[in-house]
Amino acid sequence: MHVPAACDLLIIGAGAAGLFASVHAGRAAKKSGLSPSIFAVDTARKLGAKILVAGGGRCNVTHCRVDERDYAGSTPAAIRKVLKRYGVAQVAAFFADAGVELKQEDTGKLFPVSDSARTVLAALLSEVGDSGVSLVHPARVEAVEPGDAGSGEGFRVTTSAGSLTARRLILATGGRSLPKSGSDGSGFALAASLGHSLTEPILPALVPLVLADGHFIRGLSGLTLPTRLSLTAATGKRLATSEGSTLCTHQGLSGPAVLDISRHYLMAEHADAEVRLLINWLPELPAEELDARLREARGRGPLAVLRPHLPERLARQLCEQAGCPTAGDIPKDLRRRLVRLVTEMSLPVVGNRGFAVAEATAGGVPLAEVRLASMESRCCPGLHFAGEVLDVDGRIGGFNFQWAWASGFVAGTSASAALAADGDRAAVPPPP
Ligand SMILES: Cc1cc2nc3c(=O)[nH]c(=O)nc-3n(C[C@H](O)[C@H](O)[C@H](O)COP(=O)(O)OP(=O)(O)OC[C@H]3O[C@@H](n4cnc5c(N)ncnc54)[C@H](O)[C@@H]3O)c2cc1C
Repeated sequence: MHVPAACDLLIIGAGAAGLFASVHAGRAAKKSGLSPSIFAVDTARKLGAKILVAGGGRCNVTHCRVDERDYAGSTPAAIRKVLKRYGVAQVAAFFADAGVELKQEDTGKLFPVSDSARTVLAALLSEVGDSGVSLVHPARVEAVEPGDAGSGEGFRVTTSAGSLTARRLILATGGRSLPKSGSDGSGFALAASLGHSLTEPILPALVPLVLADGHFIRGLSGLTLPTRLSLTAATGKRLATSEGSTLCTHQGLSGPAVLDISRHYLMAEHADAEVRLLINWLPELPAEELDARLREARGRGPLAVLRPHLPERLARQLCEQAGCPTAGDIPKDLRRRLVRLVTEMSLPVVGNRGFAVAEATAGGVPLAEVRLASMESRCCPGLHFAGEVLDVDGRIGGFNFQWAWASGFVAGTSASAALAADGDRAAVPPPP
């Protein structure tokens, strides 16, 4: 498939953010009465890989309550400004109009009633088609240069499917997570080539953590239980906490609580090797209460106290790690050690599973370099941004898609409005 020689607006990347930006750019153009030519290009042979795998194939489209505290990266005030432009109710209405009703689960997550991510992708693609935007793929954007000043040319874009000029661009290339889907971080290089800085470091987010070889947790693979994780600095200051389900794996730890804290751990560890990640295996019971129950258990022993609350395999391991017998009286120092292991065990994290399995990317183009009302670059006029290429990442629960929808909406409508404002100086005729 070839790209046209010229277009008015080129959307680079047709993932969640790029598709949403496309729909809203196309719709806004129709409303303006102009017919700018709008194209979206993507490296992928099959579009929407990440939408299809999301939420275990069900696609967690958004969450019933979303605010800036669900995100990390750029400042909360900046994130809020974008989020409030396109809220959860608007997302639900958009998908309902497109034939995909959403349902809310007990966790607050919203999924399509079909329980099928395919319906979400199909609806988006159909809306893009209806909005008059043309999708070209596979076409990987390899380089972008600003055109000659004053020529009205906008940008010169080199793709694997030919070169073209575009008056405006939306960069919606995602981050680096799941690179086989096409999101290989090349968008960061494109942003940098147009004068943007990138936050340092750029790390996996929502990623399972790897524990030291031979650690007993690796032998508990498959076990899932509710926990609380806390990240502390060398000074003891608490930097982050997360609560929820944790899954022991043959390499370490995963599950929502671990995924949520992973970006905070990796960022903190990058800045200060002394940070500690602690796990409380029994958050429902305060440490003093556990200590009292162990004291009162006397001859029944610690396993009898732990067994009602923890999986047997874990309870036995914790006793063994503390050097406690599982039955009978235990001396005070071993009891204290066991309480510490149950309620604040330090995790010897030696790595993470990397971008190949991470669900998101921490870091990217700082929002400080973007005009939030239009998502237009402060460094490079005519360039807009949407989605995960920006320095914003959400916790598990539909927040990353919500960011893609909101920023995609702002970028798409604003880029179209800017074309209309540039006005009749322009429109490249749409292809026949
Ligand atoms: C396994 C998994 C499950 C997830 N589940 C959920 C979930 O249930 N709910 C949720 O909210 N979030 C989920 N996420 C996160 C969510 O998928 C992303 O945050 C979201 O897709 C980001 O959208 P985006 O459009 O910015 O980037 P992407 O979806 O990464 O899309 C970017 C697109 O740009 C294209 N591209 C990149 N570079 C170029 C280039 N140079 N030229 C042309 N095209 C290019 C890529 O091919 C890709 O199609 C999940 C992620 C993963 C990996």
